Amino acid sequence: MHKQTKSFLFLPFLCLIIALMAIFNPVAKASEKKAYSETPVYELGLNQSQIELLKDWGLSSEDLQTMTLADLKKFLSKPIEKDNSKYNADNTLFPDMHTVVARTDIPQKTINLLSNLGFNDQEIQHMTLTDIYEIIIPYALAAYAVPSNYIYVPFVQYIGGNDEYFHPNGHSGSANMQREANYAKTIAEHSFSRTYNYATTQANQNIRFSYYLFGEFDASIGTHEGIDMVDQLQTNRTIMSTMPGQVIRKDATNGILVVYNSQLDISVAYMHLKINANLSVGSNVTQNTALGTQDKILADGRHLHIQVTDGRTTNVASGKDLTLTSVYPYNYLIVLLN
Ligand SMILES: [Zn+2]
Repeated sequence: MHKQTKSFLFLPFLCLIIALMAIFNPVAKASEKKAYSETPVYELGLNQSQIELLKDWGLSSEDLQTMTLADLKKFLSKPIEKDNSKYNADNTLFPDMHTVVARTDIPQKTINLLSNLGFNDQEIQHMTLTDIYEIIIPYALAAYAVPSNYIYVPFVQYIGGNDEYFHPNGHSGSANMQREANYAKTIAEHSFSRTYNYATTQANQNIRFSYYLFGEFDASIGTHEGIDMVDQLQTNRTIMSTMPGQVIRKDATNGILVVYNSQLDISVAYMHLKINANLSVGSNVTQNTALGTQDKILADGRHLHIQVTDGRTTNVASGKDLTLTSVYPYNYLIVLLN
């Protein structure tokens, strides 16, 4: 009884001390002035599936406790080398993706080259993409003049093309090609609200999404700043937002809509679309807001172009030169889709 009385009397004194500490604590004051990029990752409000995804990509619980947003952005702005096999193994539609792709997606030109090198059909069917790349890269010839530091990729999954080159800072290349093509697929499936049909010819693909990827070189244009995708079944297909955020630029004439996501502090530009009339600067969008319809404003053909820029900016890099201004988009968009 005596003991309880004592602690009861002590309580107001303790409260006073805590209040004084809160008022005069220089550390607490300094943290209020910290830049948003210094926010600890655990304070970003990531949901459970986003946290699980980051762990899948190799971050530990301790990493997630100690990293700041700036650290996380450094991690997300480049390919995740770890656990590529796991990603493919998790693909429920095609658990044996390597083999399936090797059967359906090898350009005839590559098959001919492998045959000429002495491999029979049976052997080719069972090769992984890594096997194929290792065999054919020394034999491949550049189709056009390309800066020597660009990374050569013999072919891109999902009928994405042959003899492609990627900007070195785009961090693309054979090792990441399958992962990036898969992420582009996920982003396109969400954008067009359609499940990819795994067609074996380009004409029969319901959606295309790997033909012009981030950092990809085009001899007549430059280095691609974003990911292109097209819905081949419906010309004016509705385009869904890939992430929540606020509209910070609406340029209906040029088909450019820029949405800022404050959680990860990135700006996402959607281009060539006919923008929904009910959207304007300041509008909040969710992950499932219809942004507009597929169009060909400032483009040769109807398609959607998505690119990610670091921070809050309405600027959209043109992609009509060899510099790469936008950031590696895949990890950001996949985290925000979770
Ligand atoms: Zn584009």
